Amino acid sequence: MPWNSRALQIYPVSTKNNTMRIIPFLAAPASTSTEAWVAALQAAMPEEKIIAFNELSEAAKASCKVAIVANPDPAQLQQLPQLEWVQSVWAGVDRLAADVAKTELKVVRLVDPQLARTMAEAVLTWTLYLHREIPSYAKQQKEKIWLGRPYVKAQHRTVSILGLGALGEAAAISLLQAGFNVCAWSSSAKSVSGIECFSGESTLTAMLAKTDILVCLLPLTPQTQGLINASFLAQLPKGASLINFARGAIVNDEDLLDALNQAHLSHAILDVFTLEPLPKSAWQWQHPQVTVLPHCSAPTDKGTASLIVAGNIERYRKTGELPQTVDMRRGY
Ligand code: NAP
Repeated sequence: MPWNSRALQIYPVSTKNNTMRIIPFLAAPASTSTEAWVAALQAAMPEEKIIAFNELSEAAKASCKVAIVANPDPAQLQQLPQLEWVQSVWAGVDRLAADVAKTELKVVRLVDPQLARTMAEAVLTWTLYLHREIPSYAKQQKEKIWLGRPYVKAQHRTVSILGLGALGEAAAISLLQAGFNVCAWSSSAKSVSGIECFSGESTLTAMLAKTDILVCLLPLTPQTQGLINASFLAQLPKGASLINFARGAIVNDEDLLDALNQAHLSHAILDVFTLEPLPKSAWQWQHPQVTVLPHCSAPTDKGTASLIVAGNIERYRKTGELPQTVDMRRGY
């Protein structure tokens, strides 16, 4: 069933085979990577014709059932009246899910083992940075202080991951392999060998109480927005650290600032922010206990992502079946 039946009356539906095989690519209006994405996607699926939205004919707009998207402009999606589903090339689809929540359009997000490996590498890198106390040594160097700090074995550090999905599980396993004591928290109950798994709100306090380094890999949903607030942070032991690689709005920035200023939290590694790029006036840039990263922890690899997307579209063409779609009620 078309997701926008009002628009369907405006555009004629072409049944020509060549028109039916066109797949639009929609990016954010300011995106500079459209050309590179179209080339990568086209190389991965030569039997389809990938066309940037701005170059689509009216006939193609009127007939396409699937589109590939990277933060699309919702007004452009509205111009594709027969669209049944969109394949995002990003793993996080919070903005897209909110934009189309009141329509019947189905959203498929990117699940790519390469992305999970990249994120796991980032989580391990910055966990080791905190574990080996690099922020303290950097401060000591500035002050010309020659002082070795007591060594703590990885097995004596508990790293807890919020979110045990595609990225959280890969990160948890790499931390486990590096010798850390690993906990993870998810919505539904999970079991992963070697990892202490927690699920549901009632178990969060117990996990936070034993956490030295907290890694956020939750999706941004109405339930997770502002989750990491003052009362949440207060449940972490004094001196714990935070790594947020998920979405900025999951953290209450004012409460985070307070927890850092009161030295309840020792350090925060922030890759994601409510407003991106982070404004030059933002306190995070200057704070001595904050490491700012420019949303770089796990960039999508165009090559591997295009192959995943190609596989999803090929299955859909052959069977009519959609890959697993985002559950709009829960928002991820
Ligand atoms: P995913 O596979 O959907 O996993 C999400 C996990 O969070 C699941 O384990 C889910 O529990 C859990 N969860 C969701 N809501 C929860 C709640 N209210 N309480 C407890 N647990 C909850 O997602 P993913 O692929 O791992 O990606 C996670 C996020 O990473 C994305 O949404 C995106 O925002 C972010 N990301 C960031 C970057 C970057 O470069 N910074 C790159 C890619 C992705 P269940 O397993 O029970 O459903």
